Amino acid sequence: MSQETYYITTAIAYVNGRPHIGHAMEMLQADCLARYNRLIGNDTYFLTGTDEFGSKVYKTAEDAGISVEKLVDQNVIPFQELTTKLNLSHDQFIRTSSAQHRTGAQKLWQKLVDNNDIYKDTYEGLYCIGCETYLGPKELEDGKCAIHKKEPELIKEENYFFKLSKYNDQIKELITSDKLKIHPEARRNEILAQLERGLHDISFSRPKSALPWGVEVPNDSDHVMYVWCDALSNYITALDFEHDSALFQKYWPAQMQVIGKDILRFHAGIWIGMLLAAKLPIPEAIGVHGFMTSEGHKMSKSLGNVIDPFDIIDQYGVDPVRYYLLKEIPTADDGDFNHDRFKEVHQSDLANNLGNLFSRVTAMLQKYNDGKTLELKASEALTQSLETAWQTYHHQLKQFDLKKAAEAIMQLLDFGNKYIEQNQPWTLAKTEPEHANQILTELIELLRHSSIMLTPYLPQTAAVIQERLNYVPTADFQTSIKTPLPQGHEISKGESLFPRIES
Ligand SMILES: [Zn+2]
Repeated sequence: MSQETYYITTAIAYVNGRPHIGHAMEMLQADCLARYNRLIGNDTYFLTGTDEFGSKVYKTAEDAGISVEKLVDQNVIPFQELTTKLNLSHDQFIRTSSAQHRTGAQKLWQKLVDNNDIYKDTYEGLYCIGCETYLGPKELEDGKCAIHKKEPELIKEENYFFKLSKYNDQIKELITSDKLKIHPEARRNEILAQLERGLHDISFSRPKSALPWGVEVPNDSDHVMYVWCDALSNYITALDFEHDSALFQKYWPAQMQVIGKDILRFHAGIWIGMLLAAKLPIPEAIGVHGFMTSEGHKMSKSLGNVIDPFDIIDQYGVDPVRYYLLKEIPTADDGDFNHDRFKEVHQSDLANNLGNLFSRVTAMLQKYNDGKTLELKASEALTQSLETAWQTYHHQLKQFDLKKAAEAIMQLLDFGNKYIEQNQPWTLAKTEPEHANQILTELIELLRHSSIMLTPYLPQTAAVIQERLNYVPTADFQTSIKTPLPQGHEISKGESLFPRIES
């Protein structure tokens, strides 16, 4: 079987502030898909990083009285630390202030120029610094930005423009034909409605006199690129697009670009337009997630309900946080972080459904057969459950529904818990020890499969389960799935997987 490549990206986080739980969730969604693709044998490359240009960071540095270079160097640190804290498996962390990004973005710009898609014009409009974009009448409420509730600045500048309108119909065609898949359906409809209204040409530069912090426009040192223009190009500059490197050749186009719902129009509109103008392949899919609230309310510093991803990982551990964000939060919709709910989910899904099943099965096998499995004779019910779980799991992960795929694992564990109650190996052990050990061997097989499915979600826990089972999956995924532990295989003793959270 030929190996497929799988390139996945997150949006790059804007460094004008600390990482919040929304950044963590997006990184985890991409991590889960990256790990899944490695698991099934795809040659995977996972990119995340930071967006470091634009007027917001420039103003923050000015206000703080430090150089903007120093500010971004400081602010990038917590984002890089977060990748470690979350146990991310990314292959690269790109910073848009890097030299490779700047020259790569310039090459892309030049391609747009060569295609006659860049022109100069005077623009007068209302600019929201929070959005880093000019606002149209629809984005205004009482003269203020509908998102930031701030009055935009009136700006009149001579700028370079990108002929985005030219690509409107082509983009629409790509989306309606699913050559560019947008998950979920509701977001796909939203962008199609926007394309129906029509995309406008977009101001693609700022005069350096107004904003000295950005990627210089090629052959015009009086202008820097519009922050979205350079930011979007990170997905290819990271692969060294400038030199048409082996990395770029191998991994572009991306199979999945994970973003938040607020930046869909930039990705499904401007970014695709840029790629078409540059005659580059377009990504296969965009996965769009929602926003997170905290205890039912919008997170805000004034309400004091901002969830810091570092704090909750310190409190609960990384795998439980990964689990909550990937399974409890709807993958493509808004979701809530709630401490009581967190404890409930931890108890029901992790401690009980997974943890207890694992403890009971392994302890009984130790007790009744010195921890040794028999030859697996899988019942019809077990075979069926495994098959259904795998089918749902693969299907949902391919549809960008990480929550439903996680639910399939939980359903498999539910089955395991019912199976143990129905068959009562502790009763059988007294009269039919062989039968009891047969049931336990089946449950070990169920746990082995569960551990493989859990790898993208709970990498540490999955590794502990496999260690206790003395099991190392083979490099070939299909072989791993089909090969149960051999007769007489010995499992190890150990602690419970999820200690109770003290409340
Ligand atoms: Zn705004």
